[in-house]
Amino acid sequence: MITAECINCGACELDCPVRAITPAPSQFRIDPMVCMECDGYYPVPRCQWVCPVSACAPERESYLFKARALTNRGAPPVVLRAAPPAETPAILQGRLDRLQKQLALVTNKETRAELRYAMAKLQWQLGQITDAEFAEIEKFYENFTYEWC
Ligand code: SF4
Ligand code: SF4
Repeated sequence: MITAECINCGACELDCPVRAITPAPSQFRIDPMVCMECDGYYPVPRCQWVCPVSACAPERESYLFKARALTNRGAPPVVLRAAPPAETPAILQGRLDRLQKQLALVTNKETRAELRYAMAKLQWQLGQITDAEFAEIEKFYENFTYEWC
């Protein structure tokens, strides 16, 4: 499932190897009958990995049910088909650009803070801001989230 924290950035939809994630009326959703927890593609669920606000939570129960059903029918064990792609600067920059577009559409201040924090993290990974600047932003974000919780 995708939780209410989703800020509709679209990163998970683009990265899901089996196209299990689609936009829904209010936010993105995972089709539990299609999701296979990235088994055979990535060592960890890709949507969880790319989501800037930890809103992707693939349903383990559905996946295990499907895996058991397949095993009972004699399906061969799943093997990793590809190593996870490196987080290249182009990939990170693409995510940053998507978040920037999303920021222009959002007015809710908590969501804007989430977006800004996710963007700062990407900028830090890209070397666009220093360790000290990112630490400062992290501190500000922690205090801010503490206030709204
Ligand atoms: S866990 Fe993998 S297969 Fe499932 S929705 Fe997320 S990215 Fe797609
Ligand atoms: S990556 Fe996270 S925030 Fe972005 S659309 Fe998917 S669930 Fe929503």
